[in-house]
Amino acid sequence: MILDLLSQHGALSRTELAWRTGYSRAKIGAAVQSLIERRILEEVGDDESRGGRRARLLNFSSSIGYIFGVDVGATSVDIALSDFTGRILQRFDAPADVRDGPDVLLGMIKDQMLTMLQNAGLMPDQIHGIGIGVPGPVEFSTGLLIAPPIMPGWEAFPIREYFNRVFPQAIVIVDNDVNVMALGELRRGKNINAQNFIFIKIGTGIGCGIVCQGKIYRGSSGCAGDVGHICVDYNGPICHCGNRGCVEAMAAGPAIAAKAMQAAREGRSPILQQLMESNNGVLTAKDVGIAAARGDRVSIGLIQESGKLIGEMLAGVVNFFNPSLILIGGGVSNIGYQLLSSIRQAVLARSLPLSTRDLRIEYNSLRGEAGIYGAIYLALEHIFTTLATPGIDDED
Ligand SMILES: [Zn+2]
Repeated sequence: MILDLLSQHGALSRTELAWRTGYSRAKIGAAVQSLIERRILEEVGDDESRGGRRARLLNFSSSIGYIFGVDVGATSVDIALSDFTGRILQRFDAPADVRDGPDVLLGMIKDQMLTMLQNAGLMPDQIHGIGIGVPGPVEFSTGLLIAPPIMPGWEAFPIREYFNRVFPQAIVIVDNDVNVMALGELRRGKNINAQNFIFIKIGTGIGCGIVCQGKIYRGSSGCAGDVGHICVDYNGPICHCGNRGCVEAMAAGPAIAAKAMQAAREGRSPILQQLMESNNGVLTAKDVGIAAARGDRVSIGLIQESGKLIGEMLAGVVNFFNPSLILIGGGVSNIGYQLLSSIRQAVLARSLPLSTRDLRIEYNSLRGEAGIYGAIYLALEHIFTTLATPGIDDED
């Protein structure tokens, strides 16, 4: 708890640590002393923010090392070098295609990491953790991708071992991107006190990260929250999973784009028709957002329809899980305010009154930054668990 708090807030005094954890000053004092003796923490100065006696501030030892957070998207890569308080020292992002496979993509990430270290004047053995979010199902215990639909060449690729060859001191943790985004919100978002919430990512697919009692809940094999394949229409189109009417096949980015192209071809929307002509005959969900912002009724209708289907699916999730908060994020989530309002309407209409009494549904507060912060904290959480468990240091 002490390490978690310092990683979230930066330097704190013993009194503040006692107050925030609920433990006595004496107990916190003893724990801090042991962390100082193990060179995990050090005293970094005085707290001058309050009157009266000045308290010594504690923070991570300057020799404790650094972290890489990596957010792999379907079409982009984002890398951050951070310290143990989640402060980003170096940042790199670039377009990339996961379909190029792990050798090409991880090779590029590794080269970029080494360049970032050089720029920061650091060595590879100063990296003590690497957290990686990937857009596919991950078996969390092994860090392996299992049957990833949009990244077939990555099946069971040993990502951990790959990075450990270059960064031998690092704990490497791989997780599904939506879990990582939920973790970013839990640690750095504005709803830092929410203990039971879900993060819905709407993009090429629809995924869900679950935070249960202040921790990411992954289920028994790591795929909890795969809500994209919940059926919302038994007569709906066939999904890539083989079933009919999955919410992902009817309401995610490609479905919105396909319906928009159909409307353009049938002459129902001059704006979409015009956009499609200037885009070489193709439309994306983003174009639907552009048309909606210009007042195109067909596009507004498509966004509302998508929100209604997602909301109907979420109503079941709300009845089952009773979250206090649903955060909506991902590349397609910002195509128009109608999406969020339709989701809210459908959830309220179809959930039990008691489960929605205190429920808020809003955009995720970190927007596009949730993934990179989540990746940093994914590594930090596991380092802290290791540090807090006596004996593990010696076994390594
Ligand atoms: Zn499906």
